[in-house]
Amino acid sequence: MSVPFIDLKSQYNALKKSIDSRIQKVLESGAYINGPEVAELEKLLATHTGTKHCLAVGSGTDALVLPLMALGIGQNKSSEDEVITTAFSFIATAETIVLAGAQPVYVDIDRKTYNIDVSKIEAAITQKTKAIMPVSLYGQAADLDEINALAKKHNLHVIEDTAQSYGAAYKNTKSGACTTAAGTSFYPAKPLGCYGEGGAIFTNDEQLLQVMKELREHGSEKRYHHTRLGLNARIDTLQCAILLAKMERYDWEVDARNKIAQNFSHQMDELKNVDPQFSTPFIKNGNKSVWAQYTVTVTNRDIFQKKMQELGVPTTVHYPMTMPDQPWYKKNTPQRFDIPHSRWAAEHVVSLPMYPDMDETIQSKVIEATKTAVKFSIENNK
Ligand SMILES: *Cc1c(COP(=O)(O)O)cnc(C)c1O
Repeated sequence: MSVPFIDLKSQYNALKKSIDSRIQKVLESGAYINGPEVAELEKLLATHTGTKHCLAVGSGTDALVLPLMALGIGQNKSSEDEVITTAFSFIATAETIVLAGAQPVYVDIDRKTYNIDVSKIEAAITQKTKAIMPVSLYGQAADLDEINALAKKHNLHVIEDTAQSYGAAYKNTKSGACTTAAGTSFYPAKPLGCYGEGGAIFTNDEQLLQVMKELREHGSEKRYHHTRLGLNARIDTLQCAILLAKMERYDWEVDARNKIAQNFSHQMDELKNVDPQFSTPFIKNGNKSVWAQYTVTVTNRDIFQKKMQELGVPTTVHYPMTMPDQPWYKKNTPQRFDIPHSRWAAEHVVSLPMYPDMDETIQSKVIEATKTAVKFSIENNK
């Protein structure tokens, strides 16, 4: 029996009654766009995150583009605005900055957390800098207090990319609740996933919310009256109905993921004696990860992954290339600063199966396979 990388079927079975009945209700209502479930979800997620406002949108990409647009970033005709971000993330982070009309300025990561290295941000700030976009990668919040302090000092906005960290705890608050705005994704494989595309923006700024609401509807403050350049960034009512059902056990899921991660890290720790570059995830004091990924590092990744596949355990690399090394970005958004840790991560990280319904038998299988494959990858590296 091979192990799935994520298991959405068990989750569906656990929530089937609620999901099916909520979907049925939407189907019968006919309110497929802007139905009552949209506002219901926004209210629930704002409360859950601890923000004043939530705006549900069509994707995580929309959830990052809209705050940038609403803040007027990238709309400077005489010079190009800059947004400081990490070099190591899913491409959508840099993509949304470019789509808004601004230039991403890439900063290296902290080698332990894979999040932006705050000590390198200040050197990247110029007259053109308008915002910082940290990413809370793999489910763990970035160093938001330090980033907010820098932003305050230099009069910048902070937009947190929370696509992988919905619900993650950060000190006494939550990822998504401490910055000018935050954008998350409900892509099915994310910690809180729907059954299609979806995303949400969080903010405490009422005025910003109003502008983003208009942008979501083609820049209209009322129907057929377009006062801004906007887009269609709406979410389906059906996706909101599904997310309302998923929220019924989301906190349990986060706890379940944390228990699995703890077991993995405890059992795999000994591999540091086998592979000098082996590491299990490092979670900072005050952080509670939602474990979007359980990501380790190994010296010989190709051999490791092949062996894992033979043993029936799938693995994935998040991400095999830094953003500024991606072909289009290399040409159009050159990196200004050295990014050795990001490049090291791109060569050595590998994610193992992680999902809340993983039982103990499968956890043991993942652990044993990892032990075998790490040993094999060290002994058979030619
Ligand atoms: C998934 C993801 C996004 C984009 O979300 P979509 O819903 O796929 O548009 C943005 N940033 C990060 C870090 C992501 O993982």
